[in-house]
Amino acid sequence: MNQSEKSNPEYDANKDFQHFIGKVVREKKVSKQDITKIRKAFLFAKTAHEGQYRKSGEPYISHPLAVAKIVYEEMGLLTTGIIGAFLHDVLEDTPVSKEEIQSQFGKTVLDIIAGLTKISKIEGAELGDSYQAQNYRQILMTISDDIRVVIIKIADRLHNMRTLGAQQGHKQLKITSETLYLYAPLAHRLGMNSIKTELEDLSLKYSEPQAYNEISQRLNISKADAEAYIQRFIRSVKQCVSITGLKIIKIESRFKSIYSIYKKIQTKGVRFDEIMDLYAIRIIIEDRPQKEIDDCWQVFTTISNLYPARPDRIRDWLRLTKSNGYQSLHMTVRGLEGRMVEIQIRTEAMDATARKGMTSHWMYKEEKEIMVVDQKLIDFTDRVQEILKDKSSSAEELVSIIKTEIRLDNLNVFTPKGDMKTIVQGASVLDFAYLIHSKIGNHAIGAKVNNELVSLNHIIQQADQVEIITSSKLTVKEDWLKWVITPKAVHAIKEVLKVKRKEKQEWGKLVVNRFYKRLGISENTPEVEELLQFLSLQSLDDLYYKVGIHDPDVLSKADDFIKHKQNQTPVPISSEPQKENSINPEFLVLGKDVNIENVVIASCCNPVIGDDIVGLQRKNRVVIHRTSCDVAIKWMANHGSDIIKANFSESEGVSFLAALKVQGLDSQGVLIELLRIISVSMKLNMRKVFIDTKEGHFEGLFLIFIQSANELNRLIDRLQKLPNVKSVTRTDNNFKPFEN
Ligand code: MN
Repeated sequence: MNQSEKSNPEYDANKDFQHFIGKVVREKKVSKQDITKIRKAFLFAKTAHEGQYRKSGEPYISHPLAVAKIVYEEMGLLTTGIIGAFLHDVLEDTPVSKEEIQSQFGKTVLDIIAGLTKISKIEGAELGDSYQAQNYRQILMTISDDIRVVIIKIADRLHNMRTLGAQQGHKQLKITSETLYLYAPLAHRLGMNSIKTELEDLSLKYSEPQAYNEISQRLNISKADAEAYIQRFIRSVKQCVSITGLKIIKIESRFKSIYSIYKKIQTKGVRFDEIMDLYAIRIIIEDRPQKEIDDCWQVFTTISNLYPARPDRIRDWLRLTKSNGYQSLHMTVRGLEGRMVEIQIRTEAMDATARKGMTSHWMYKEEKEIMVVDQKLIDFTDRVQEILKDKSSSAEELVSIIKTEIRLDNLNVFTPKGDMKTIVQGASVLDFAYLIHSKIGNHAIGAKVNNELVSLNHIIQQADQVEIITSSKLTVKEDWLKWVITPKAVHAIKEVLKVKRKEKQEWGKLVVNRFYKRLGISENTPEVEELLQFLSLQSLDDLYYKVGIHDPDVLSKADDFIKHKQNQTPVPISSEPQKENSINPEFLVLGKDVNIENVVIASCCNPVIGDDIVGLQRKNRVVIHRTSCDVAIKWMANHGSDIIKANFSESEGVSFLAALKVQGLDSQGVLIELLRIISVSMKLNMRKVFIDTKEGHFEGLFLIFIQSANELNRLIDRLQKLPNVKSVTRTDNNFKPFEN
C-alpha cells in the first residue's frame, strides 16, 4: 500500500466521482438501481480509506476511483466490476471485514474482492521465487473462478503503471518487469489490445528511458510527414476500390506503438528509418452476408494490381481465425514513392469483434450474474485450469507453461488424411507428434511438412499438412526438451527421460561401487564428497548417471582421482567456474549499499557503458543485465527484493565485451569488409569471430571489446550499411549461427 505524509488539497474525490457517475448514467448501460449500488460502493470505499494517501500525495480513494473508470470505460465491465474496483483494496488495507462486505454488497462482490486480496497478500510479501510464482499462479487460478478478478487486477496494474513516476527506481523496475512478464501478455490474450500496448509502452518508459525517449521523439518528428503521406495513399486506394463497386465504410490510419518499434529494432536489427510498417491503414468494408470473405479478397486483388504486395507478408485471418476471435486479411505493399504500407482489410462485423476482443463476450446479466462467454474464452480458461491441476510441476514451471498459452495464438494444422488439429503458434513438428499421441511422439524420427522432409524441431506454420515418421524404437532424447513448448509434450518427454535416467543410474551405480572397492571406500566416506567436488557434480545420482552414460569427461577425471589416491598425492581442487566477464565494481554506481564480493556482466545481454542496466543480487554476487534483457525481466518478475538500481560510472578506458549477430548474403568480400571495419577502421579488438554459411547466406557471432553504447551503435550502423549485410543485432555469447 502507498501511504505518505503529504496530501494534495487540490484533489476533490466527490467531484471526480460525480463526473464519472454522470457519464455512467448518460450511457444507460447500467440500471437506476445499480447506479445507487455504485454510489454506495464509492462512499463505502472513501470512508474506509479516509486518511490514507498515495505516494503521489493524493487521497487514496483517487486510486480505486481511477481503477473503476478503467474497468468501465476501457474494459466494458458494468455494475459488479465497478463495485469490485472501488472495493479492491479495502479488505487488505483497512479494518473492513469480509462479513461487512457480504452483508452490504453480496456474495459475488465478496468473492471477487477476496480473490483480489489473495493475490495482493502474496504480492506484498517480498520473499523468494516460489512465492512470486505462487502469486502468479493465484492470478491465473482466478481466471477460471471469475474472470472479472483478473480484469480488475489488470486495471489496477494499468493505473499503477500510469502513476509509476512516484515510485523509487528499483521498485519501478520490479513493477515493469512483472508487467511485461505477465500482465501485458494476459491483456493481449483477453483481447484488450490497446491496454496491452499501453502497458508495454509504459514499461519501456521506465525500464529503458533512453530508448523510449529516442523513439518517441523520432516518431513525433516524422509524424507530420507520415500523416501527409498516408492521406495521399488513402486517396489513391479509395479511388481504385471504388471501381469494384464495393462500399468502403471507412479507412483508418494508425501508427506503431513505441514498444513494438523498439522490439523490432532490437530483434530484427533494423534501423528506425527501415521499419517497414511504420505506415499502416485499415480498410473497413460493408458487411454483405455470405460474401464477406470474397469481398475482402476482392479488395486485396484490386489493391495489388496498383501496388505490388509482398508475398511473404500476406496473412489470411479470414477463414483461419486467431484464437482471440480475430478475423482480417493483412498485406504489405510497396506504395507510392516505394514506401511500405501495411494494409488490413476486414468487414464492419469483423472490425467490431477485433476492437472489443473478448470483452464483447464477458458481458454479464447483472441481476442474475450469469456470465455469457465465447467458446474460445472457455477453451482458454479450461486449458489454464487443466495445467494448474498438474501436481508434479512447481508453481514456477506451471506459470511458464501457461505463459506460453497466453502469449501465443493457435494454428490450424492438417493431418495427411485432412483432419484439422489446432496447435499453439511456435510449436514444432515434435509437439504435433505428441498432440496426436504420446506413443507417436516417443517414437518419432522425422516428419513431412507439405510433403517435404523436415527434422523434428521444424516449426509448424499456419495450415501446414504434417505427417510424422516413426520408428519401432523409443527415440526420446534429452535435447528434445529444447524443441517443444506444449505442456503435453514436455510432460511426456520428461516421463520417458526419468525412466531412462533411472536405468542409466542403476548401471552407473554398479560401476561406481566396483570403483569404491578398488579404493577401499564406501558410499558414506568423506572421499566420496571429495570426488563429487573434484568432478563438479551436485549429487551421487548425478555421478551414477554420468558414469552410466559413459561421460568421457567424468570417466577420465575419475581415473585421475584414483591415481592421486593410489599414489597418495593430494587431489587438486577443481578450477573455479569461468569469470570471464567480471568487472571492477568501481565502474559501477549501485543504488544500494551492499557488501559485494564480485560483480559480473551478464553474458546473455552484455551491457556496455550507456545502456540502461540493473543489478540482480544473489547472496554476495551481483550480475549486471540490461534492463530490457529477457532473462533479467523473468528474474525480476519472480524475485522480490534483490533488484539493485545500477548505473555505469563515467569512467574512461574500460572495455566491455559486446556480442553481435550479423546476417547477410554470402558474397565475395563481405566478411573481409566486416572485419576491416571492425579492426582497421574502428580499431576495435575482437575476442572471437564465428561464422557459418548456408544456402548463400551467412550468420556470424562477433565478440568485440567496446567502450560505450555510443561506440557500439556507431559500429552497428556502419556494419549495417554494407551492401550485403541484412541485419546486425546484439545477442548473447552463446549464439550459434543457424541454430534457431
Ligand atoms: Mn490497487
